[in-house]
Amino acid sequence: MEIRKVGIVGCGLMGSGIAQVCATAGYPTIVREVSQSLLEKGLAAIDRSLSKLVENEALTAEQRTSALGHLQQTLRLEDLSGCDIVIEAIVENLERKKELLAELDGVLKAAAIFASNTSSLSITEMMTATRRGPQFIGLHFFNPAPLMQLVEVIKTVVSDPEVVRAGFEFARTLGKTPILTTDRAGFIVNRLLVPYLLDAVRTFEEGVGSIEDIDQGMKLGCNHPMGPFTLLDFVGIETTYYIAEILFNEYREKRFAPPPLLKRMVMAGLYGRKAGKGFYDYTDPKNPRPNRLLER
Ligand code: NAD
Repeated sequence: MEIRKVGIVGCGLMGSGIAQVCATAGYPTIVREVSQSLLEKGLAAIDRSLSKLVENEALTAEQRTSALGHLQQTLRLEDLSGCDIVIEAIVENLERKKELLAELDGVLKAAAIFASNTSSLSITEMMTATRRGPQFIGLHFFNPAPLMQLVEVIKTVVSDPEVVRAGFEFARTLGKTPILTTDRAGFIVNRLLVPYLLDAVRTFEEGVGSIEDIDQGMKLGCNHPMGPFTLLDFVGIETTYYIAEILFNEYREKRFAPPPLLKRMVMAGLYGRKAGKGFYDYTDPKNPRPNRLLER
């Protein structure tokens, strides 16, 4: 089960990051997108990210050139036929993912490993779109993929242990630290992180503390690199809401239920950093101010 060639489907935020990591590790990596302009956008992001790593002396200029040399791009799914592993990193939509996976099933060689980078969908359900359940696993990278150390390796009730082991080894060869988890909504990290973020919103809603004091509390009291509201704005309010709904649907426990304020913020377009406003106002991006309108 040797992995020599990697295919990545989707070259957005995550796909481009994962492709960069694979190419930097020396794997011939082929990336598939749905249009030439999206391919170019993704590859330009890789180019910028590699240049920044060279500037920061995390990579040499030769390593950058070598990584770029390992990257190939295509619009045709058939061009992934020689890959030993294909990582799916397209939009978080079950139907679109299943459609793609069924198509890939007809293209990939018999021994190829299917991996999905989904944050919240069921790996088992995606697997049903293919006829190769034992070869299907999750490989959940974190954003930004070139910098974040962790990869969650997700096994299903029918994953071949050899395939899971190969996924684990593969993540290690990328310089990442893999952890093993099963196919349950949220896997390990989001299952623990999301209720914490939702609880921070409830703490604020109940008037226990202000946005900045809750953030300071968790930063200085627990040594977290950032407080929960800074993190919520960074992840995206609508993304957190969406993941919370999926967790709640799976477990039906109150701790996963999105609080009313989060829902109102989604409806009002207060998505966080990318929208210029969330729990903080980013009118001056270097000096975000708590969004006072959220106070009761
Ligand atoms: P994105 O919207 O930035 O990128 C998705 C890309 O997939 C788009 O460029 C789109 O054109 C492309 N695409 C759609 N259908 C395609 C197809 N059939 N073939 C090829 N390309 C196709 O999304 P993203 O944030 O990179 O998320 C991708 C996946 O990674 C999702 O499953 C998401 O849950 C997961 N994920 C996201 C994060 C994050 O922080 N954004 C973190 C971990 C995992």
